[in-house]
Amino acid sequence: MAVPLFDPAAPLAPLDAELRAAVSGVLDAKQYILGPNVTAFEEEFAALHGVPHAVGVANGTEAITIALRALGVGPGDEVVVPSFTFYASAEAIPPTGATPVFCDIDPETYLVTADAVRAVLTPKTKAVVVVHLFGNVAPVDEIAALGVPVVEDAAQATGSKTTDGRLTGALGTIGTFSFYPSKNLGCFGDGGAITTSDDALAERVRSLRFHGSRDKVTYEEVGYNSRLDELQAAVLRVQLSHLHAWCDRRRQVGSWYVEAGLGEHVDLPVPAVGADPAWNLYVIGHDRADALHTALTDAGIGARSYYRQPVHEQVAMTPWRTDASLPGTARAAARHLALPMGPALTRAQVDEVVAAVADARLD
Ligand SMILES: *Cc1c(COP(=O)(O)O)cnc(C)c1O
Repeated sequence: MAVPLFDPAAPLAPLDAELRAAVSGVLDAKQYILGPNVTAFEEEFAALHGVPHAVGVANGTEAITIALRALGVGPGDEVVVPSFTFYASAEAIPPTGATPVFCDIDPETYLVTADAVRAVLTPKTKAVVVVHLFGNVAPVDEIAALGVPVVEDAAQATGSKTTDGRLTGALGTIGTFSFYPSKNLGCFGDGGAITTSDDALAERVRSLRFHGSRDKVTYEEVGYNSRLDELQAAVLRVQLSHLHAWCDRRRQVGSWYVEAGLGEHVDLPVPAVGADPAWNLYVIGHDRADALHTALTDAGIGARSYYRQPVHEQVAMTPWRTDASLPGTARAAARHLALPMGPALTRAQVDEVVAAVADARLD
């Protein structure tokens, strides 16, 4: 039986009637922009994270740009970002006028470390974009201790937390989320959010997402048209109460992979110290990752390498490319491979994936 890499529709099937009712409710109310569902979702999302403010925006990429702008990042500033991440983590920086400065990662956790950030800090560093890649939880406290504001890119880590129960997005100065359908909390299109405990930052974010205006008549700075729309907010509200259960299932699937002996064949993903990841992607390491990918595809098992070419090597990043060697990035880029993950995956499917990995006989 084929096992898909991920299946965002499966966990939503039991909620079908509720989701349709939520969409109908918006059609009946005929208020599509910044309506009651966006306000309610913002309150619920903030409460879930234990922070006073959550602000809905159009997507996870603009969430990062707006968070940086709210921090006062602009031309002449530098923003540190890992190169081993989804391209958007870095792409969001140049629109502020600042320079992206690429740092390395720990290839075991796939995460940026305090040492990696320290290595590239300069007096011009205005912020660090700390990516909670694949759902793992980056060491925000250690990086914040370097004295530079931390933007948490939690796009892949909604519902991930520290072992002492703090959710990603509530650890740094400001957190950014994506609700793209394949994320841990996905809507039916594009959507995003920004979380913060800082009242002034939240107010500036609210202004920036609406053209740099607080009252919608006077315009104080050049902003963005970047709002979470009412239909997506209604859909997200239905899902929000299921997020923790879905995330626990992602943790369970990770445990099943370990129990089923996957670690005998490949390098397992390593939770960071103090992290309780809700895996968005279950990414293993192997010296012959592409051969394994081919073998799994032949066996009907979904697999994918996401970032073979790290961000600093992408053509669009040429103006900001440095000669600095990023050995952890190179190793992760060459060896990573995502295996099936999701809240609807069964133990039998996990066993099937592990059997297919064993059958590939690459170890
Ligand atoms: C998905 C993603 C983003 C961008 O989110 P969009 O909603 O697609 O704009 C940013 N950073 C990371 C790490 C992501 O995975």
